[in-house]
Amino acid sequence: MPTPPTHAFTFTRKQSASNKTPRQINRNLVFNLIRTRQPISRADLARVSGLQRSTISLIVEDLIRERWVLEGSTGRLPRGRRPTFLELNHQRAVIALDIHPSQTTVAVTDLGGRIVAQNIVALPDDPNKAITPIVAAIRKLIANHADKAFDGVGISLPGRADPELRKPIFAPNLNWPVQSIKSRIHRATGLRVEIDNVANACALSEVWFGDSDGLQDIVVVNVSEGIGTGIFSNGRLLRGANGMAGEFGHVEMEHDGHPCGCGGRGCWETLASNRAGLRYYREISGNGAPPSFAALVKMAQADDKNATRALEKMSCYLGRGLRMIASALAPSEIVIVGDITSAWHLFGPKIEAELKQNAFSKAPKLRPSFEGNTARLRSAVALVMNQGLN
Ligand SMILES: [Zn+2]
Repeated sequence: MPTPPTHAFTFTRKQSASNKTPRQINRNLVFNLIRTRQPISRADLARVSGLQRSTISLIVEDLIRERWVLEGSTGRLPRGRRPTFLELNHQRAVIALDIHPSQTTVAVTDLGGRIVAQNIVALPDDPNKAITPIVAAIRKLIANHADKAFDGVGISLPGRADPELRKPIFAPNLNWPVQSIKSRIHRATGLRVEIDNVANACALSEVWFGDSDGLQDIVVVNVSEGIGTGIFSNGRLLRGANGMAGEFGHVEMEHDGHPCGCGGRGCWETLASNRAGLRYYREISGNGAPPSFAALVKMAQADDKNATRALEKMSCYLGRGLRMIASALAPSEIVIVGDITSAWHLFGPKIEAELKQNAFSKAPKLRPSFEGNTARLRSAVALVMNQGLN
């Protein structure tokens, strides 16, 4: 028995403030209902969405003709009716890339964002050679999934660019020629390539995949080697001039502090990113840092006192920066993406306590991304789907 339609209604009503047409909004709504509730009948779609049965039929025929959706099994209801259930076309897939300075995850996902296969590609130190192994990994995954039809390649990237990629990209932690990625991958695969800042992509993903009730005003904070934010405001992504909106990570929070990749000092990300967490561990323990931030989080989960203190310090600065975001944008919800969320029960309360120090406004709701470590990959799928379905 499907659950009541509260969320679906929220999606329709709030999305109407965006720049999408009503037809696109209803299409997205129906597609997402099929994605989350498959297999589902047309009658249930009408009931759950609140749309007219005739509207549902038209949209579903479109989705079937364009092969986003398939008619699957036949159900059996009382009084002899036999509805046909709808499901996503699992033959269609997207290549998703989550790019980091030293490694990139390349994945095959289905249209619902479910990861079918993935490879982690270690990247060479020479930035000019970084794209070659990525392209090779994509081609190999496509070859290994010859039964799938690929809709495109989505790339989540720790940097900013104007959407046309004409201007150089601001990517302090990614010192390689990002501009050529899009054209190289397109040439190698023949597929459409959609690329965006990882935090923007994660914000879009929260909205596209319908996980968030705060669809009008939500800020996604991606905590990784640096800190980036994606701002979904008044029903759309806020990009700003040259696509540079959301660089809270490079607001100075400590005068004459640690040098930052942007050329400044004491930026928020020098105090609250994964790199800061590793540095705090080195300072507190007097030992070398663990091999990765994920390893540091595991140590804290195993009750290592120094690891815990290091991550508490990082969490404190993270929360302090979120106050700045809460004051500037008053989002209804802030979503954290990154490895720190895998120990949310330990550090989420610290972050939230700092956020709530804000005296003059109601603190936004704070939560980790539901997707945990796969949020960045799924955000790359959202980039392709957002363009493809409309
Ligand atoms: Zn900076």
